[in-house]
Amino acid sequence: MRTPAPRERVIDLRSDTVTRPTPGMRRAMAEAEVGDDVYGEDPTVRALEDEVAGHFGREAAVLTPSGIMATQVLLRALTRPGDEVVCESDAHVVAYEAGAAAINAQVQFRTVDGDRGRLDADRVRAALRPATFPYTTLGAISAEETTNRGGGAVHGLDRLRSLRALADERGVPFHGDGARLWNALIASGEDPAEVGASFTAFSVCLSKGLGAPVGSLAIGDAEVIEVARAWRRRFGGAMRQAGVLAAAGRYALEHHVDRLADDHANARSIADTIAEAWPEALDPATVATNIVYVDTGAVSAAQVVATLAEQGVALGAMGDHLLRLVTHLDVDAQACRDAAHLLVAAMAPPA
Ligand SMILES: *Cc1c(COP(=O)(O)O)cnc(C)c1O
Repeated sequence: MRTPAPRERVIDLRSDTVTRPTPGMRRAMAEAEVGDDVYGEDPTVRALEDEVAGHFGREAAVLTPSGIMATQVLLRALTRPGDEVVCESDAHVVAYEAGAAAINAQVQFRTVDGDRGRLDADRVRAALRPATFPYTTLGAISAEETTNRGGGAVHGLDRLRSLRALADERGVPFHGDGARLWNALIASGEDPAEVGASFTAFSVCLSKGLGAPVGSLAIGDAEVIEVARAWRRRFGGAMRQAGVLAAAGRYALEHHVDRLADDHANARSIADTIAEAWPEALDPATVATNIVYVDTGAVSAAQVVATLAEQGVALGAMGDHLLRLVTHLDVDAQACRDAAHLLVAAMAPPA
């Protein structure tokens, strides 16, 4: 373990999950009215669930301890064991969940290559198997908004609606992994209720860019969410006085959504600075939200990460020559400028 040098702050751009609750958020948590949520008696959890469902124009929502659990309870509620779920090749649900869907929903994935993690309805259509025995049954189509490994790209309503139309045509649900859905909404300016209506059911996350310590929600029709709630219980995710956590989420919804625009501006400014010095490293026009992927060129990503760690900047290596930077509420514009300049210098090939 590296001991942080006390004289320097650490600019942590590894992920937007590294944020710490602000003093205001901690106060809201301390003052939260709570009860036993398994008995349906936590008023703060209920208020959060109602607020979030209403925000997206949907009937119901259920709070889960993590984004993965929100996705897992939804896939379990929406599909049947043995079904096939279509998703993008690098989607979180297939790449980063330790095979959870194979165990919990007992589904298999059919992956389709997208464009920066975004699915295209025509390409998905071409990949679908015939809906006849003995082909594997299609269980759902799943899309990520924004895309994580796709660099924070936004599908947007048009693409989401055409995917929903295809799902409707095949009589299957359209599932959304909205871990960064608020980033998409801030970037696109689209209406939460219209985006919310494009999915059969979807998740959102409070502990990414919104800065809450814990929590995601699964959202949809009351009937689907009731089933998801039962699966949350079976998966061990039903919580008791979770109002303490829900209060952080409610605080984040009030104070940390509009400011996501700052994170996007900071990501863009990092991208511009890097591209100006190293045009092959990335195309800043592709940076739509708070994620920046950088090709480190002649220097290895591990080397750049090590150099920047010495200088108090934490970054994630995503490949031999690939770095990821994620902006969030604990890094301000100056910190992002400093990190970008240090990164530019660290990418210089050895003389
Ligand atoms: C982070 C993330 C998740 C999972 O969230 P956890 O709270 O870490 O379980 C799911 N999907 C996407 C796209 C994510 O970025």
